[in-house]
Amino acid sequence: MLKNSPTRMCIACRGRFEKKSLTRLQQKEEHIVPFQGVGRSFYLCRDCINDTKKIKGLTKRFRQNEEHFVKFLKEQIENG
Ligand SMILES: [Zn+2]
Repeated sequence: MLKNSPTRMCIACRGRFEKKSLTRLQQKEEHIVPFQGVGRSFYLCRDCINDTKKIKGLTKRFRQNEEHFVKFLKEQIENG
């Protein structure tokens, strides 16, 4: 693999993927929002966003409202 290959790790499955195929998010106060250019961010792959079990785990990890969080993630995929 190339040293500067633009891959990032999905925090849910820990798989490495091309940056462009990942959704970049960040935690802002108590909410998870699309990455806004500043601060710590993390990535999720599409498989994980579509994986109900993984999303449940993340919901707990980030203490999100599950219904809201699932809806938000689906919107990220549709928009991006
Ligand atoms: Zn993943």
